[in-house]
Amino acid sequence: MDWDLLERLTAAPGPSGHEGPIREVVATELRDVAEEISVDPVGNLVARRPGPGPRVVLAAHMDELGFIVSHVEEDGFLRVVTVGGHDPRALVAARVVVHGREDLPGVIGGKPVHLMERAEREKAPKEKDLYIDIGLDGERARELVRPGDPVTRAAQITRLGDLVSSPGLDDRAGLYVMLEAMRTLGEHRCDLHAVATVQEEVGLRGARVAASRIRPELGLAIDVTLANDGPGVPARERVTELGEGAAIKVLDSSVIVPTDMVDALVGLAEEHEIPHQLEVMPRGGTDTRELALGGDGARAGGVSIPLRYTHQITEAAHPDDLDASVALVRAFCEHAHEV
Ligand SMILES: [Zn+2]
Repeated sequence: MDWDLLERLTAAPGPSGHEGPIREVVATELRDVAEEISVDPVGNLVARRPGPGPRVVLAAHMDELGFIVSHVEEDGFLRVVTVGGHDPRALVAARVVVHGREDLPGVIGGKPVHLMERAEREKAPKEKDLYIDIGLDGERARELVRPGDPVTRAAQITRLGDLVSSPGLDDRAGLYVMLEAMRTLGEHRCDLHAVATVQEEVGLRGARVAASRIRPELGLAIDVTLANDGPGVPARERVTELGEGAAIKVLDSSVIVPTDMVDALVGLAEEHEIPHQLEVMPRGGTDTRELALGGDGARAGGVSIPLRYTHQITEAAHPDDLDASVALVRAFCEHAHEV
């Protein structure tokens, strides 16, 4: 695994609707491996490698969970609305960066446990009670921050034993896989479009536009999936397991992948000896849905990276699963004209 690349991707902010900084990083990484790079009207970055075969779209989303400042209080505390499906238990005491007139460190404030009633201690905080403390008085805060400014969780990529942990691996891990597959791609016949999409976390919005503009015949979304593989969880509830390979999407709550697409991906994984597992995810959806149902409709599947603690600030993935996913996405692109 190329640690430096993953670190560059996790360091760049990009909450839904404010993907500019991460788009710059992705564009830089793709510059030498694409024939054309463009940005569509909603902000999706499209890197194309033309070919005579079927139109193929790979999609990995650039956006991450975040916040938008809604109000600066008299005393300098910031009120925010959440962007995307945060886990409220994971927010209090999180370090954040407020992207105001300059980048400002902040912490999400909360009541000390000493002052909580017993019932309060057992409940997750409500999103409406959240505030951000940037340590500045009202006057300084209003000079530097205004409503509409985006806020992200502070970057903090960490080695966790054999694993890698960072906020935003959903979907920086998927971007990593797409970039590495594009960089190492061999001969291919398909007309390949690698799309770094916007606004997935708020409703698959960028992928819808990409599908309707490019009208793919084949689609492959690269995103994370749940690895609920902690202690005591029975195998039937795990969805996927870290270290067991690339997850081939069978279904999630937004899409059912055509059987021949699942079979094709499993066949490629077997042929190339790529560790893999099947993903049957009862909740949640990804860009696979819009690749399948947007545009003229397409045969679309998903390669998913197993992830622990999804949408918390301690998301964790296994580098071997990233490597397996890169190998599978690359094989898919090289053989897409036969799929
Ligand atoms: Zn995602």
